[in-house]
Amino acid sequence: MNPTPRLKGQSALVTGANSGIGLEVAYALAMDGASVVVNYVTHPEAADDLVKRIENDGGKAMALKADVSNEAEVQAMFQQMCAAYGTIDILVNNAGIQKDSPLEQMSLADWQLVLNINLTGQFLCTREAVREFLRRGVVPERSCAAGKVICMSSVHEVIPWAGHANYAASKGGINMMMKSMAQELAPRKIRVNSIGPGAIQTPINREAWDTPEALNRLLTLIPYGRIGQPSDIGKAAAWLASDEADYVNGTTLFVDGGMLLYPGFSTNG
Ligand code: NAD
Repeated sequence: MNPTPRLKGQSALVTGANSGIGLEVAYALAMDGASVVVNYVTHPEAADDLVKRIENDGGKAMALKADVSNEAEVQAMFQQMCAAYGTIDILVNNAGIQKDSPLEQMSLADWQLVLNINLTGQFLCTREAVREFLRRGVVPERSCAAGKVICMSSVHEVIPWAGHANYAASKGGINMMMKSMAQELAPRKIRVNSIGPGAIQTPINREAWDTPEALNRLLTLIPYGRIGQPSDIGKAAAWLASDEADYVNGTTLFVDGGMLLYPGFSTNG
């Protein structure tokens, strides 16, 4: 537990928190004092393991199942969270998937599945969180803001990605959704931002790092010379959710080891 927890007394919901980035974001928020809901849709045992790890390390957490692309399940999850923790202060829209294929082979089902989870899921969860933020308003002892939303985007909200048109479209969509929501909600003291991870070592991109050849190819895209870890994103999320970031609104914090610096131009062009 952080000796001077920045999120004390606050409650946070992290979607897709039983794996990869979401797992370390939920852990980091809990170690900064927040009571955390660990959302999952499959593998309840992984969600339970995280709850135990948080509790063993002095934090507070509970697991709740919901498919973020299902309106009724999302609404039920927020009701359960508010019944248990009283309210929500922080939402991290993390859940996301890839269904990659060349464009001419991409099925409508795979296009829609990625958009439904990665983009519509973030809309559905944010809407429920915002309803509660507006109902409750600012509680100055807890935070300067009535609520904080962090959308997990990607460097692919900027960098086009051949063979991943559905995924890149979902992340580009998150960028404009996040900015529009931030503009709309700022006067009501709600902060909405994104984190744009570069290459982070998680199950979603295993084939990009699980052999030395693949990892070496990947590293040519990362000026800082290492693959990112989920805890790199956890630390950024805890700061962004805290009042230390109170004047940060409507922006994407890229945590990417310099992937967006066009590394190909360092030796060419
Ligand atoms: P991951 O596969 O380890 O985790 C994804 C999580 O989302 C899992 O817990 C999964 O169960 C959950 N999920 C999937 N569908 C869901 C649904 N319908 N409802 C609720 N949960 C659902 O992958 P990750 O790398 O940790 O990805 C987390 C987020 O980070 C995603 O939004 C991803 O696009 C983004 N991201 C990852 C990287 C990277 O390099 N790993 C880079 C940029 C962005």
